[in-house]
Amino acid sequence: MAEVLKTHKCPICHKVVLENKYRPFCSKRCADIDLGHWFDGSYAVAAQELDESDYEELQNAATVKEEDE
Ligand SMILES: [Zn+2]
Repeated sequence: MAEVLKTHKCPICHKVVLENKYRPFCSKRCADIDLGHWFDGSYAVAAQELDESDYEELQNAATVKEEDE
């Protein structure tokens, strides 16, 4: 119960970042890079570098965010 702040890893640069409007990315820059990955087909490779638990965390965070709004 030590962690009260919601944090996650940016899927692009893998930094641990606090919640922000660009989540799951740390910044608009990383969000734009992710968009580029989708277009050039390299996203699947990047996703495999995430631990399964990390991926779950991101998905959970995204779900909570949607329910908030
Ligand atoms: Zn980032």
